[in-house]
Amino acid sequence: MQGYKADSGFAQRTAEIDISTLAPEFRINDVIRTTYEKVGLESLEAVRSLPARIGIGGLPPVLLNKVRPLLKYVQLTKDEYLFQQDDKVEFIYFPETAVISEFQMLADGRTIEVAVTGSESAVGIAAVWSTLPAVNCAQVCVGGTAYKIEIDVLERELTYSRPLQRWLHDQLNVYIKQLSQKVICNTHHAVEERFCTWLLMLHDRSLKSKFSLTQEYIAGVLGVYRPSVTCMAKALREKNVIDYVRGQIFITDKHKLRKMSCACYSELPSLISYAR
Ligand SMILES: [Zn+2]
Repeated sequence: MQGYKADSGFAQRTAEIDISTLAPEFRINDVIRTTYEKVGLESLEAVRSLPARIGIGGLPPVLLNKVRPLLKYVQLTKDEYLFQQDDKVEFIYFPETAVISEFQMLADGRTIEVAVTGSESAVGIAAVWSTLPAVNCAQVCVGGTAYKIEIDVLERELTYSRPLQRWLHDQLNVYIKQLSQKVICNTHHAVEERFCTWLLMLHDRSLKSKFSLTQEYIAGVLGVYRPSVTCMAKALREKNVIDYVRGQIFITDKHKLRKMSCACYSELPSLISYAR
């Protein structure tokens, strides 16, 4: 009965009945199961669990309804790569509870984060209508759920939908805005301020206050050496802003963290502003 993902109420009701005692014409569960299997249970699960409040990827409900049969629900694990630099991007990802970091990698192996995306937008949109490989690599920073759609499939839908085209262009502008703000942030703001802003962005997108983040990883996000992260984390812990233990970081005072963040927190795309 657990297979009837599209109607758990139906499954529960029929679980109370001994189906084998019914005449064949009343054994509709077999008919439904066969139908659902033809459609694909995975896609039905995705449709059922789509959030009703603001949709995903900032998609207005009318557009979400249009593309939802084409989306596949996926679980993304921490540190998983969605694509690497110079890869062909095959899917666009709409994070639901997952948070994705995009990195620029230098020839000597150092990295710096250039964008962070949660359920307010999508990852990989620059690849639509483009044959160029990925400019950045995209890695799961906070594990969670997402929806994905094949680039070719979305491109086909865009051909027929002007509102969907406008949404895509808006998302590209939001993405460019974030890249621009990151340039300002990485050039002009103190590393401690940048770290506080980044933690707040993770918090807003995942609704979590505890993250699996090593100091090595944080150094790669901020583009600094690990000892700088060690000093900064220690200072923030002494001010009771964060705490940490063996690869886990906890936000202990969000208001203090907000006060210590840079102005970019107000400028960067916020999940809260999309939800309003
Ligand atoms: Zn900043």
